[in-house]
Amino acid sequence: MTNLVERTLGRLNEQKPGRLSMPGEQSYAAATAIWAKPFALAPRAIFSCQTAEDVQAAIHAAGECDLALSVRGGGHDWAGRALCDGLVINLAGMNTVVVSADRRSARISGGARASDVVAVTDPLGIAAVTGSCGGVGMVGLTLGGGYGPLIGRFGLALDNLIAADVVLADGRYVTATRDINEDLFWALRGGGGNFGVVTTIQQRLHDLPSICSGMLVFPFAEAQSVLERCAELAASAPDELTVQLGFVVGSNGTPSVLVVPTWSGLPHDAERQLARFFSLGTPMAGTLDVMPYGGGLAIFDPHVIYGQRVIMETVWLPALDSGCIDALTQAIETAVSPGCAIFTHEFKGAASRVPEISTAFGLRRDHLLVEILASFVDQSNLIDEQKHRQWVQTTLMALSISALPGGYPNLLADGNPIRATQSYGRNAPRLIEVKRQYDPDNVFSATPLPK
Ligand SMILES: Cc1cc2nc3c(=O)[nH]c(=O)nc-3n(C[C@H](O)[C@H](O)[C@H](O)COP(=O)(O)OP(=O)(O)OC[C@H]3O[C@@H](n4cnc5c(N)ncnc54)[C@H](O)[C@@H]3O)c2cc1C
Repeated sequence: MTNLVERTLGRLNEQKPGRLSMPGEQSYAAATAIWAKPFALAPRAIFSCQTAEDVQAAIHAAGECDLALSVRGGGHDWAGRALCDGLVINLAGMNTVVVSADRRSARISGGARASDVVAVTDPLGIAAVTGSCGGVGMVGLTLGGGYGPLIGRFGLALDNLIAADVVLADGRYVTATRDINEDLFWALRGGGGNFGVVTTIQQRLHDLPSICSGMLVFPFAEAQSVLERCAELAASAPDELTVQLGFVVGSNGTPSVLVVPTWSGLPHDAERQLARFFSLGTPMAGTLDVMPYGGGLAIFDPHVIYGQRVIMETVWLPALDSGCIDALTQAIETAVSPGCAIFTHEFKGAASRVPEISTAFGLRRDHLLVEILASFVDQSNLIDEQKHRQWVQTTLMALSISALPGGYPNLLADGNPIRATQSYGRNAPRLIEVKRQYDPDNVFSATPLPK
């Protein structure tokens, strides 16, 4: 077996010189340096792709010697699922972004990050729907959903997908659109990286010369009232206004509440819409400023720490009611380290108006996505791991009392098919069927799918 793997990888190396890297090499180290430090996982080899043919060659080679495959895009999956113990298809070098002549869409390569996109679109006064952080892979984000500051106005990132070029498990290279390979196109919009390697997406663009956004930091003592007022404000906010919340613990153990409103409507309305956020409480720090769309993707950067062990859970809340506010504040009061944090994303407006069955994404009603995050440094310290895991689970249980079934597929943990099934709601049976059709041997097992 080992000989077969070695021979096959050797052939791949001859066929595509300079693409394959092995443990100990610099390009191997760069490709495996992802956001979350995976638990004791060492890929057999990394294959850095530049073209769809490279991807085909990697899939073919892995199939020949029965090696597990994984796909590395922006490297921001919380569970480190970009890596596996077999062959990693590394798309990091495929990061071009080409805007169409009419500026209505862009072709985005499979490994481009949101920061690669805004580097091209910001100077043109246009924007794609991204998540909130520049480092996240555009395709990984889009395939699972894509909650971001423009969700109320333009929907999820996946609602803006026009076409995808995909290398399938059997090596075929196909395009999926509303009219071509419709089932695949439907499944790609929510089913994650479970159907093939997406080498390029064509994504709708929107006129957006600027936004107004920033982060306001409130003392934790005011958390209850800040959250209550924020919930009131958000309930009556227009589609152009989204609000993200963060609950973080400083290195000295002091918790605080972060409020990040983003206004993407007419610039002259920004002040009227956003002034109210300063009176949510007594801000300790922060400003709200006019900026290019890409400027907003750096707001959370101080809280995005690379290379740590991460445990994460997700819930969907129907609203930020008093029970949830109590659960959130209590969770932060009982945080076990400064690595404990909770972030929320709104789902509203344009995203909620999309009919549930028109994409695989399973929940089309206003809600709040909650990310429960525990990160820590020492991976050999099991006690540390256990106490963070316990905190995440306790917080999840407390929030689950009023949660909707399922959770954001991009953030689900492996090994819970019931939860995955709930996440896709009535789209689950069709998703299972499309998986059978396009990847019957489960070559691409990324985020969990319904069973
Ligand atoms: C700091 C941080 C901030 C985040 N912010 C947001 C946010 O604002 N909104 C939101 O909705 N989500 C957010 N996420 C979650 C994010 O959308 C998912 O983790 C997503 O999977 C990351 O994609 P990636 O390409 O960066 O990750 P990777 O780890 O490279 O890939 C994760 C998986 O995605 C699939 N994949 C990636 N690229 C391809 C491709 N080209 N073809 C086929 N499959 C592919 C593969 O299955 C892969 O295993 C955030 C995550 C982090 C860590």
